[in-house]
Amino acid sequence: MPVPVVRFAPSPTGFLHVGNVRAALFNWLYARRHGGRFILRFDDTDRQRSKPEFEAAIERDLAWLGLGWDLRERQSERLAHYDAARDRLIASGRLYPCYETPEELEFKRKRLLAQGRPPVYDRAALRLDAAARSRLESEGRRPHWRFRLASDEDVRWHDLIHGPLHVDEKSQSDPVLVRADGSYLYSFTSVVDDIEFGISHVIRGEDHVTNTGAQIQMFRALGAAEPAFAHLPLLVDASGGGLSKRTGSLSVAELRDRGVEPLAICALLARLGTSDPVEPVTSLEPLVATIDFARVGRAAARFSEDELAHVSARTLHVMPYAAVRERAAVDEALWLAVRGNLSTLADLKTWREVVEGPIAPAIEDARFLAEAAATLPPEPWDGGTWKSWSAGLASASGRKGKALFHPLRLALTGRETGPEMARLLPLIGRMKAEKRLKGEKA
Ligand code: GLU
Repeated sequence: MPVPVVRFAPSPTGFLHVGNVRAALFNWLYARRHGGRFILRFDDTDRQRSKPEFEAAIERDLAWLGLGWDLRERQSERLAHYDAARDRLIASGRLYPCYETPEELEFKRKRLLAQGRPPVYDRAALRLDAAARSRLESEGRRPHWRFRLASDEDVRWHDLIHGPLHVDEKSQSDPVLVRADGSYLYSFTSVVDDIEFGISHVIRGEDHVTNTGAQIQMFRALGAAEPAFAHLPLLVDASGGGLSKRTGSLSVAELRDRGVEPLAICALLARLGTSDPVEPVTSLEPLVATIDFARVGRAAARFSEDELAHVSARTLHVMPYAAVRERAAVDEALWLAVRGNLSTLADLKTWREVVEGPIAPAIEDARFLAEAAATLPPEPWDGGTWKSWSAGLASASGRKGKALFHPLRLALTGRETGPEMARLLPLIGRMKAEKRLKGEKA
């Protein structure tokens, strides 16, 4: 197989959210799996809605997720390429000028619907001769341009996720590619770029399936073979509704603020709706190794914030120290002792305070705890200290199980539950342990 070249093509008109991260992730994983290239392309031809701050936010979010790009492009800087492609389509008769106003088009649409016919553009503009066109232009009308779909062309494609697909061209109007103000529509600029950057696989959301038939015709009209397509099923929430309405709360920025781990977002989105289990990962490598369109189900995938929070906690539970050293101001022993009790990295602060103090101990049975303090062994302490010390206390006091361990934990940590005491005790150290067992703040 030739080396794949893929692209993630967000419009910088808003923040990245879980839906479009999924497309970015599948592109990135696919490129990495097959030694290919991943291009970040900003579809920013809509000058009103595209904003540099959204671009910066998208870059920051992708970098945070670990999805670096090999090349970054902006459509707004490539207008000369679109002009050239437009002129070629005009010369070959596939792009034709239309002069209807939006009101006239709406009127035609309504009339067709009233007749029970599909509201497909009637190609009236194709029948205008040069004189009629110049008369319209002399009235001040500026044309928009439509791509003439070839109804005899078979545009079936084998979607890598959905299998054989096709769009019935007879039910589609010739798409507008150039607006009356000369600006281009995404479906056209995307094809020009996909050709010029040698995109081998277009991996994107299922909402673009309906564009694909016309786009395949555009590839061919511009003398190129179409790439392979993989349309990812949409994500839905627990009630089966689309996520888009709630994207605000599911933006990557929001998830980051909530303390969700980036690897958890990737682990969940890569596996959701596939035949592989969702499991925490310590790097993107296992996701690279298992990405396979054949394992992606065709049905909408159910996304749940609770599941994401759960995967995020489990990600921390297995995270090696090297992966958090920069973000967590704790040493390795503390990290390994407490990571299994974290929901988010922010919880680390609590356990750091428990170890470093000062904390107010909770005293349940002062006499027993005084006895415990008196039998603390001399340092150095290690992972076996807790066991030998508590075994000695068990035989001296006759206590066992909860009656033995619970008062010790409460006094030493000030909490009912927490990480394994065998790991915590040597980190707390003899001086603080003794004070806490005696009820002193330490
Ligand atoms: N700019 C388009 C979008 O954000 C890209 C679609 C595509 O990948 O072709 O939906």
